[in-house]
Amino acid sequence: MIIPNVSKLSDEQLKEVTDIVGSFGCKIQVIYGEVQSIYAIIGDERNDDMITKLEGLPFVNRVDRIQSPHKLMDIRSSLASHRVKIGGVTLGQSLFVVAGPCTIDPKNPTLTIETAHAIKEAGANALRGGVWKPRTNPYSYQGDAKALDILMEAGRATGLPVDTEVMDEEHLRLALDAGVHCLQVGARNALNYSLLRQIGQAIVGRDVAVLLKRSIHMGSTQEFIAAAEYIVQLGNPNVILCPRGTSPTLDGYRNHPDESIVPLLKERTWAPVVVDPSHSVGKAAYVPAAALAAIAYGADGLCIEANVAPSKGIGDDPKQAVTPDVLKKIITQARQLWDIRRS
Ligand code: PEP
Ligand code: MN
Repeated sequence: MIIPNVSKLSDEQLKEVTDIVGSFGCKIQVIYGEVQSIYAIIGDERNDDMITKLEGLPFVNRVDRIQSPHKLMDIRSSLASHRVKIGGVTLGQSLFVVAGPCTIDPKNPTLTIETAHAIKEAGANALRGGVWKPRTNPYSYQGDAKALDILMEAGRATGLPVDTEVMDEEHLRLALDAGVHCLQVGARNALNYSLLRQIGQAIVGRDVAVLLKRSIHMGSTQEFIAAAEYIVQLGNPNVILCPRGTSPTLDGYRNHPDESIVPLLKERTWAPVVVDPSHSVGKAAYVPAAALAAIAYGADGLCIEANVAPSKGIGDDPKQAVTPDVLKKIITQARQLWDIRRS
């Protein structure tokens, strides 16, 4: 990884660097940081002759050789100073909460609009809502592109940035065209490397973030971080890691709560971590404790399913969405815990 002593290489400097690594069978991938762009060497970067040539360039500050399968996501990467921002919030600086219905009902736009206002009132920073849904049962409601207009309208009406899950290239295109601020990769697609690459490619140069859920099965910490590397290596480092419980389940919960992975992620990577307690425990009554546990473990934020009338919602809402009152209490207590953590 090449760290220049300028914020960004000029075209001539980039060509010089590309020519050097090219003669050793490697390529350069630019990672556009807010303050400083860095230049990842794709290929075997261990060749000492190549490193010496690069280090000899007057505009190169240093060349880091991080031997890690996730060298950009690595805590030692120079991307570690990168901050992900959504709406007005810089993740890591204050508690970030994205909340909203599991699924947007295209037949009941009022429910989403009312929920959006209520979650904003409760203190949430962003609105979530499923337009397209990955359903275990193929006969369950699968989503509807019409719901995207409702989500965008709810975002505009409240001024909240919006997050929605995309499962294929068509969803990705529609979501980006509509102006979605955060693309969610669900637990079922978290290891769909083609999709991760498509997303990584599509968001280069855009002010869009990705909320990457941890895969549904109990994969390793490394597997989770490496999935994020697939996105970041294409040029946009705005990735957020989202543990959401794994399978096999803890009897009584929907999944096996995995908020305890947060310190391990924080030790190995710089990426912000936003925990989803809703899919983890799967029942509204258990969500507050799981949410606070996540903050105690060091999470930067929470992704919570919330609905003004959970029983009228579709998808997971009747079971696991909390009401705005409960959300407000979670946010208040999570902020208190955040302050305790920092003290
Ligand atoms: C969701 O956020 O509604 C969802 C389907 O989440 P997951 O991919 O974690 O199951
Ligand atoms: Mn859901």
